[in-house]
Amino acid sequence: MGLRVAIVGAGPAGLYLAYLLRQGSSGHHVRVFEQNPGNATYGFGVVFSERALHFLNDGSKTLVDQIANATEKWSGQNISVNGTVIPIDAGKAFAVERLHLLQILQEHCRTAGAELDFDIRLESLDDLSDFDVIVGADGANSIVRSSHADGFRPTLREYTNRFAWYGTQTRYEVNALTFLRTEHGAFCGHHYRYKPHMSTFVAECDEAAWVGHGMDAMDEDERRKFSEEVFAGVLDSPLISNRSLWNPWRIVSNERWHHGNAVLIGDATRTAHPSIGSGTRLAMEDSIFLCRALEAGADDVPAALAAYEAERRPIREKLNKAASLSIDWYERMGEHMELEPYDFVHSFLTRTKRMTSERLYKEMPAFMNAYDTVNSMASNV
Ligand SMILES: Cc1cc2nc3c(=O)[nH]c(=O)nc-3n(C[C@H](O)[C@H](O)[C@H](O)COP(=O)(O)OP(=O)(O)OC[C@H]3O[C@@H](n4cnc5c(N)ncnc54)[C@H](O)[C@@H]3O)c2cc1C
Repeated sequence: MGLRVAIVGAGPAGLYLAYLLRQGSSGHHVRVFEQNPGNATYGFGVVFSERALHFLNDGSKTLVDQIANATEKWSGQNISVNGTVIPIDAGKAFAVERLHLLQILQEHCRTAGAELDFDIRLESLDDLSDFDVIVGADGANSIVRSSHADGFRPTLREYTNRFAWYGTQTRYEVNALTFLRTEHGAFCGHHYRYKPHMSTFVAECDEAAWVGHGMDAMDEDERRKFSEEVFAGVLDSPLISNRSLWNPWRIVSNERWHHGNAVLIGDATRTAHPSIGSGTRLAMEDSIFLCRALEAGADDVPAALAAYEAERRPIREKLNKAASLSIDWYERMGEHMELEPYDFVHSFLTRTKRMTSERLYKEMPAFMNAYDTVNSMASNV
C-alpha cells in the first residue's frame, strides 16, 4: 500500500517530488500545502546548464523536455570587469520564467493525481499527524525544519555581501556578469534573459559599497534606483522589483536531513548561492533522490529517509564546498578587481577549485588561448 505523504511548500522541490511520487507504481497519496496562491511567486527567471537538465532527466524526461521547450537559450558568457568585456566559450545554458516553471510542474502534478492546496500557511506540523512522511520543501525559512530544530540541528552562516534579485526588460544576448568598482566598493550584476524581452538581474555589492554609498540608510525603492545608476552601462530599461529585498547572503545548513518521519529537501536543507548554479536545479535533484529512496523503502520510512540522506548528502557536500569557496571569492571581489582583466576572469573561473587550468584548456579553449596571449605579451614588455 502507498504512503500518505505531506509536502510543505509548492516550490520546484515540492512540486517535482509530488509529481515523481505519483508517477511511480506505489500509489502514494500525496498532498502539497502552499502558503501562496498557485499563480504567485517571487523571482524572475531560473537558469539551467545543459548538464543540469541532463541530471534532471533522471526524474522525468517528458517533464524536463517541456521545461526545456519553454526556455531561452544561449551559449557562452560575457564577463565584464571595470568596462573590459571578456567573452567566455562556456557551454549552453537555458533559462525559464520561474512562474512558468512552477505552472508546468503544477499541471503535471494535477494530471498525475497529487492534491495541491494553495493559500494554506502551516504554522506548525500538528495537523499533519495522519501522514506517514512529512517533507519540508518549504525553502530557506522552513517551518518543518524549525519545528524539529533539535533533530535537524540547523546552523546559519551570514556573510557581509548584500544582494537582491530584480528583473528588467533589457534583452541580454548571453548570460553575463558585470563587475564594477566605485570610489567606495565593489558591485556585481549577474544578468540573463529568460523571455525574449525579460531578464533576471541579480545585483550584489560588498560591505564597503553598502556602507560607503549609504545603501544601508536607503529604502528599497531608493536602492533599486541607485542600482540602476550603478549598472546604467548594461541597462536600457528600469530594474523591476518583486519583493526584491537587499539581504546579506545567509547559508542555512543542517546537521541531519531527516528526523523521525520528517525530511528536508531543496533550500530547506541548504540554501544555495546563484554563482554556483541554480538552487532550483539542486532542489529538484533532491526530489529525485528522495523519491527513489521512498520507492525502494516504503515499508520502513525512517530507514528510507536515512538512505536518502546517505546517498544525496555526499553529492551536495561537494557542491556546498564549492559554493562556500565561491561566496568567499565574491566577498573579496573588490580585491580581485585589482588584477588585470584576464587574470581576474581566470581567478573567477577557478575560484571553486573544481575548474583547473587543465580543464579550462579543454572546456574553454578560446578563453585560455586569449589568456595565454595576453600574458605572454605582458611578459615580453
Ligand atoms: C527572493 C528570492 C528570489 C529568487 N529568485 C530567483 C531567480 O530569479 N532565479 C533563480 O534561479 N533562483 C532564484 N532564487 C533561488 C531559488 O528560488 C531557490 O534556490 C529554489 O527555488 C529552491 O527551491 P525550493 O523548492 O527548495 O524552495 P522555494 O522555491 O523557496 O519554495 C518553498 C515554498 O514553500 C512555501 N512555504 C514556505 N513556508 C511555508 C509554510 N509555512 N506553509 C506553506 N508553504 C510554505 C513558499 O511559499 C514557497 O513556495 C530566489 C530566491 C529568493 C529568496
